Amino acid sequence: AVEAGKLNAKTQESKRFFENASRPLSGGVASSYQVHEPWPIYVERGEGPRIWDVDGNEYYDFHNGFGSMVQGHAHPAIGKAVADRYPLGTHFAAPTEDAIVVADELARRFRLPKWRYTNSGSESTMDAIRIARAYTGRDTVMKIFGSYHGHHDTVMVDIGAVEAAERGPRDNYASISYGGGIPDAVVQMTVAVPFNDADAMEARIEALDAEGRKPACVIMEAAMMNLGVVLPEPGYLECVREITQKHGIVLIFDEVKTGICIAAGGATEKYDVTPDMVTLAKALGGGLPAGAIGMSDALSQVVEDGTVYQVGTYNGNPLTLAATRASLFEVMTDEAYAHLAHLNDRILAGCDDVIKRYDLTAYTVGIGSKGCVVFSDTKIVDYETYWANQANAGPLADLAWLFNMNRGIFMTPGREEEWTLSVTHDDAAIDAFVSAFDELAAALRA
Ligand code: PLP
Repeated sequence: AVEAGKLNAKTQESKRFFENASRPLSGGVASSYQVHEPWPIYVERGEGPRIWDVDGNEYYDFHNGFGSMVQGHAHPAIGKAVADRYPLGTHFAAPTEDAIVVADELARRFRLPKWRYTNSGSESTMDAIRIARAYTGRDTVMKIFGSYHGHHDTVMVDIGAVEAAERGPRDNYASISYGGGIPDAVVQMTVAVPFNDADAMEARIEALDAEGRKPACVIMEAAMMNLGVVLPEPGYLECVREITQKHGIVLIFDEVKTGICIAAGGATEKYDVTPDMVTLAKALGGGLPAGAIGMSDALSQVVEDGTVYQVGTYNGNPLTLAATRASLFEVMTDEAYAHLAHLNDRILAGCDDVIKRYDLTAYTVGIGSKGCVVFSDTKIVDYETYWANQANAGPLADLAWLFNMNRGIFMTPGREEEWTLSVTHDDAAIDAFVSAFDELAAALRA
């Protein structure tokens, strides 16, 4: 209550914004994921690793726009690319040279030969699934329980906050819609299996096959990012690759969060497992709404022969691609990835030290520019273990958010979010985070 009172006192202008915003904006925000009690923090500007809210409070940004701003805010190279492009025209709905240069670079990074553009992660996963369905001639989609792949109907299934009784046994999870407005017929076409369990995946594929409902694709994050961070157990991804290949199922790595952020070639490079398709967005465009789909030559055929209309007025928008090109070639360089690795090592080691000194029941997990502290005495390996730990971890995560916000560390309000570091973060930013965590630990032990 003390920490909540402190934050409310220093964000009174945000409160006023919220009162005004509630008049023209549904719920006072631009997207339901921006809702926060008692009011959201309205942001004025950002530069490098820092942002300022409308009350003038300064924060180090570890939210980074749900992991989109790995380049840092207002990066000069991206700003110059956008400024140089603007006077030449920003939209033609015709291809430009940057579309070729960026696709070549994505092909190099993600080992997939053919690319198309979109404007968001949801569009990328929606189009990828459609291509997989057209290619295989099947309707069923397999996903991982608890994973988020955007807001179109097919993937708004089996995402979160589902009690064990509702979701059923792990070898036969029920398909449950995430929110209203999604037809049950669509929900039933999506089937979820637990993460880190290749046997469960194969058993479910065989059961579906026996019912004449073999999946068109498996869509998954190679490292789960929307339950904090949950890494794949050694060998799991290789097994998934083998199983999907054996059954003729398209494997889609949704790299909307991992791509660009955890390595130059995302999880595909990091784990050395090549899927049939990759979906990108978020950090791809350096803060502009970029998305992309990478695919094999075989999958590309159904796009090239016109079976699938992979379309969008703003696909390959010149302004977005100018920012993307600058990001890929000038910002997200080998040196940038080395710097991110150094920073993530430092923040993980700092938090580990706090956990040890205060004997907290917690551990850290991280990869590339991402990581989190998990308040649990057992390892979280899938949604079931994550959910079983929520009664314990949820309130601590909420408290950690308040401690951070009151000490100038901007974090995503959701309990599920990991930190994202940017290439503009430095040791001082990391030490500020660790110091806030130290204060939280001291308070918990007091
Ligand atoms: N896929 C993953 C793994 C995501 O985390 C998200 C967004 O959080 C999406 C897809 C959807 O992206 P967007 O919000 O750009 O539609």
